[in-house]
Amino acid sequence: MAKKYDVIIVGGGPAGIFAALELSQPPGLSVLLIEKGKDIDKRTNLVCGLGGAGAYSDGKLTLTPEVGGRLQDYLGKTETEALIKHVDDIYLRFGAPSKLYGIGDEVNEIRRRASLAGLRLIPVPLRHLGTERCRSVLKTIRDYLISRLELKLEVMASSVITDNGKATGIETEMGERFDCDYLILAPGREGADWLLTEAKRLKLTLYNNPVDVGIRVEVPVAVMEGLTSVLYEAKLEFLSQSFDDRIRTFCMCPAGEVTMETTGGSDPVITVNGHSYANSKSQNTNFALLVSTNFTEPFREPIAYGKYLARLANILSGGVMVQRLGDLMEGHRSTPARIERGIVKPTLRQATPGDLSFVLPYRHLTGLLEMLQAIDKLAPGVAAKHTLLYGVEVKFYSCRPQLSPSLETEVNNMFAAGDGAGVSRGLIQASASGVVAAREILRRRGHNLPAVS
Ligand SMILES: Cc1cc2nc3c(=O)[nH]c(=O)nc-3n(C[C@H](O)[C@H](O)[C@H](O)COP(=O)(O)OP(=O)(O)OC[C@H]3O[C@@H](n4cnc5c(N)ncnc54)[C@H](O)[C@@H]3O)c2cc1C
Repeated sequence: MAKKYDVIIVGGGPAGIFAALELSQPPGLSVLLIEKGKDIDKRTNLVCGLGGAGAYSDGKLTLTPEVGGRLQDYLGKTETEALIKHVDDIYLRFGAPSKLYGIGDEVNEIRRRASLAGLRLIPVPLRHLGTERCRSVLKTIRDYLISRLELKLEVMASSVITDNGKATGIETEMGERFDCDYLILAPGREGADWLLTEAKRLKLTLYNNPVDVGIRVEVPVAVMEGLTSVLYEAKLEFLSQSFDDRIRTFCMCPAGEVTMETTGGSDPVITVNGHSYANSKSQNTNFALLVSTNFTEPFREPIAYGKYLARLANILSGGVMVQRLGDLMEGHRSTPARIERGIVKPTLRQATPGDLSFVLPYRHLTGLLEMLQAIDKLAPGVAAKHTLLYGVEVKFYSCRPQLSPSLETEVNNMFAAGDGAGVSRGLIQASASGVVAAREILRRRGHNLPAVS
């Protein structure tokens, strides 16, 4: 006889953890959280383990519905803002710093100068945890939760069990079965393929998201300081002159490090990413420049397309490729000697010097170079010859199952939250989406909580 819980949560990332926190408020609910990775202290995997991709993330809490997900499509702006405030308060309670970037008059001045350079600045109030504080906050939350729910680590959910269109439980990879009244699936990007397979098996309606492809740019700290000291992260948008493509900056890491990331589940590729520590500073600032790609028909396989480009870089470099902007402009590859001579020393030492024009499509490369020139007007030095470009950075956004405003799937009592469901793309909205699902469950259990309209 399988053990029965009120709620089972699959995935111990921010979405799953914040769902668990919300469900732990009224006493008496039995909640099981299943995480396929290890505990926070024991894990070595970047995206898998308690804390999810959040545990190793840069911990930039972006406090606006405008970035980090599409929650406002489900809830509307006002309700999303209220949820973001709720989630931010919880992060503060568990140790996030009170300092807020991205507010005040200086932001308006940067916005004005950005518009003169042909860029749109999206002002974002932002709190920076840093990678080490991100882990300590998550550990404090784990310690709080541990006595309030049952936690099964290194257990992978393999299939959802349904009965008459209603979720009734989960079967694990080891063949164990756990029953429940409500199910929250929050498997992150790591589990997005699994969620897709389950969604197809359950014949759920699915929508594609675009894929964002680009490079990570690395410059001396001083080049970006005018922006990062005020904004921490400058969220800039640009429409390429040649193709009218939307290109944006993403995940700016002042005094940070460029990192390698393996993504893609059973068919992995190596891509580039970045982070910064709160207490240990490098000489460089890095950020991604990403081109949103969904301008062709049919475009049924955005994930396969993104992986294909990442694989090209992997084939030519064995992993991540690095090139000086000057070398790219002069039409030759970077070599170890040229990189060594450069003023900007790569923080990702394992990156192989090469030529990104063999990897990125002309359309993407053109737009990226145009945007670098535009940012150079706002932050002189960005388009210097020694600027390092790493490739490729790909942001895979998961397929989205059809969801109600309370994030319930077409299977009754089965909710999907976080990055894996294509609802979010960042810590705050992932966390908030877990709260949405949890609140709806509490409401159905008769608790007096704000309903999702
Ligand atoms: C290097 C890096 C830096 C980042 N920096 C930032 C940042 O500064 N700011 C920001 O807002 N966002 C950042 N992000 C993104 C952020 O980490 C994610 O948006 C967020 O963690 C998503 O939360 P989630 O709960 O949806 O999924 P995840 O955090 O991915 O967690 C999902 C969890 O589910 C588990 N899982 C998957 N499938 C199963 C299964 N079948 N059974 C059991 N468990 C399963 C996984 O092991 C994983 O632990 C960064 C990400 C990375 C990788």
